[in-house]
Amino acid sequence: MNTEKINLNNYTFSELENFVVTELKLPKFRTNQIWQWIWAKNAIDFEEMTDVSKDTRKILAEKAYLFRPEIVKERKSKDGTIKFLLRLEDGECIETVLIPSIAKEGNGRMTQCLSTQVGCAMACTFCSTGKLGFTRNMTMGEITGQVQAARAYLNDTHPERPVIRNLVYMGMGEPLLNFDNLMDSLRTLHNRKGLAFSARRITVSTCGIEKGLLELGESNLAYLAVSLHAPTQEQREELMPKAAKWHIDDLISTLEAYPLTTRERMTLEYLIIGGVNDSQEDAQKLVRICARLKAKLNLIPYNNTPGSSFRAPSPQSLLAFEKTLWAKKVTAIIRKSKGQDIEAACGQLRAAQDNPETN
Ligand code: SAH
Repeated sequence: MNTEKINLNNYTFSELENFVVTELKLPKFRTNQIWQWIWAKNAIDFEEMTDVSKDTRKILAEKAYLFRPEIVKERKSKDGTIKFLLRLEDGECIETVLIPSIAKEGNGRMTQCLSTQVGCAMACTFCSTGKLGFTRNMTMGEITGQVQAARAYLNDTHPERPVIRNLVYMGMGEPLLNFDNLMDSLRTLHNRKGLAFSARRITVSTCGIEKGLLELGESNLAYLAVSLHAPTQEQREELMPKAAKWHIDDLISTLEAYPLTTRERMTLEYLIIGGVNDSQEDAQKLVRICARLKAKLNLIPYNNTPGSSFRAPSPQSLLAFEKTLWAKKVTAIIRKSKGQDIEAACGQLRAAQDNPETN
């Protein structure tokens, strides 16, 4: 590791600007050029920056370097989903997943699922990442570096160059508990001279953390998804003991006040677990919550996980659940889990790496 040099991949635009002026003693406008190389052209070496003078490249290499998460393992699903295990600079590993937006892998668009923390402190009982516990927050450069790593991979392996069209912060970790780096990563992704993702193409998923929630809404940097997973406080306490410390009534009231543009709706995620939260009574309670919110509902059938006592819902109860919601005019979509054959649910690949016997 380069201890005294600066990793420019971890700098926000204004930090880079400051570095260019005060450390490199270059005119401010050079920032645009370097930023474009890092974020638009996905450079990983200063030598790639051919329109930057040789002398400047030399100074850059003396004072700084570029590092983004490195792919250590990849798994391809039959459905085109690709899951990566990425190694960070200190050796910690996290996961990111590329999900094809069309049924067949090819020249279509992809959605990338991003992690924000190494592990997670929320300890949701159904989640593989929750079982790992919390190690540390990911930096701004590590969060956005997942996109760079995936873009480089697609460039090298897919001649038709599929585009990463949408980003979802639904990987390992709780984004709102890494708030500052989350916001910096969103600003970096938005920057028009770089990756230029608009807010409509980014969704941040949270289990519902009071601190930061409304601030995220007011920033207009991303759409919101909330992992509800249970329609009552009691059930939520069972499934999401830490998230449920914020009472469901307070969560829903806050979501009622969440700033949304005219055409925007938030997403509620509801993980359906067989025999746990898939009854008709649960569906009716969920209807009452949805009636209060400008929201669409994603029903996610539980992805069977090795070593877990939870199980997927039966096809019958899943359909009956959906029917009850539709009957009450709730927009509910069953999200068929992709990448089931490659353990693509949150934290599963990392867990398999840590416990090879379950692999
Ligand atoms: N902490 C944030 C971001 C992680 S999102 C949040 O809770 O929203 C991860 C998503 O994957 C959540 O909606 C979670 O419920 C879902 N998930 C976790 N384990 C799963 C499993 N075994 N099967 C299907 N979905 C799972």
